[in-house]
Amino acid sequence: MKFALLLALLLPLHAQEVPPVAPVPAPPPPAVPDDGVRVSVLGYHDFSETASETEMVIRTSKFRKQMESIKNAGLPVIPMADFQAWKRGEKEIADKSIVITIDDGWKAVYTDAYPVLKEFGFPFTLFLYKNYVDGGGKALTSEMVKEMQKNGATVGSHSVSHSYPGPYRRKGAEVYEKFIRTEFGDSKRFLEEKFGGRVTTYAYPGGIHTAEMDPLAKEFGYEHLFTVLPGKIRRTHDDHRLPRYIILGTRDRVFELATGFNEVAGAPGGHSPEIAPQSTPYPVQPEPGMVIDSRLPLLSADLSTVPDLDPKTLSMKVGGFGEVPAVFDEQTKSYSWQVNRRLRSPACQVAVSWLDSKGKPPEVPLRWSFRIDAEAAYLPVE
Ligand SMILES: [Zn+2]
Repeated sequence: MKFALLLALLLPLHAQEVPPVAPVPAPPPPAVPDDGVRVSVLGYHDFSETASETEMVIRTSKFRKQMESIKNAGLPVIPMADFQAWKRGEKEIADKSIVITIDDGWKAVYTDAYPVLKEFGFPFTLFLYKNYVDGGGKALTSEMVKEMQKNGATVGSHSVSHSYPGPYRRKGAEVYEKFIRTEFGDSKRFLEEKFGGRVTTYAYPGGIHTAEMDPLAKEFGYEHLFTVLPGKIRRTHDDHRLPRYIILGTRDRVFELATGFNEVAGAPGGHSPEIAPQSTPYPVQPEPGMVIDSRLPLLSADLSTVPDLDPKTLSMKVGGFGEVPAVFDEQTKSYSWQVNRRLRSPACQVAVSWLDSKGKPPEVPLRWSFRIDAEAAYLPVE
């Protein structure tokens, strides 16, 4: 599968099989309120001390240094089970927690990464795809996985075949559903039988998620599903589209961003001239003046405290897009739009307007802007 990964990296973004983004319905009302905690999930692939570094192959010594810096920074590395319990609202965890995940199942996970993780006592999750387990050559064997399970490893699914959905989706709804059922269902059964326990986490191959996957993920008992879009996770984040930083062997900046939690302070030059520190009359996302590292953020305003709001008059305008089809959630009173085309400029302005039932606009207009970290946002898909 390495060849496919490399090929994916070489292709320009638009040439990859990323299906058209389906219209995003209003986000479901957050079941558990935001507790202010942010979690960073790191995604690794292959390791080597001698092979040449690539984006997907990181030097073992560099990996060791990264683990050391996490330890020195006092960032807690938590097991996936704790992350999941926190996400469900069953457990409290520390802010700035780290979750370590490793995709595909390369043998070097066992020979190179595992000794380091064991030394630091860091738990980790292996996202394995069925067809590569015991696949010979550079693949992990199930014995290796079982041994790592004794020392901090847990197993999540990374599909059966590591295929991208595009070709199946183009063949129609029936073929596509069958494909998703196999990738979700057979991998889960296989991994649970082989390694025990319940498999409730999933890493989308290539990070590609489509709306058709959501009901089936639920049906098969997957709770937490990860993309490869970088970003910190909050408790209210959509469980089916959880961000993850793919740590690249050749670009240290991604690791720095993943383990840096003070976004604004970490921005080059602090606040940029076009973005003065701001505050808005109502809570918004991304926060005003924030530097984010995703080009596809969810834009959202919490209007639950607006007096006498007439939802029919709501309108959202986004720089470079004009008026966008934002959706008002009657339950949470949030007004949101999922950016569906990568933001191109380094700063983005958002304006939300409305009238009250007497036709009067708000006293203070709701306008804000945030910045996009250009380098971090340029990340290849897995
Ligand atoms: Zn993969």
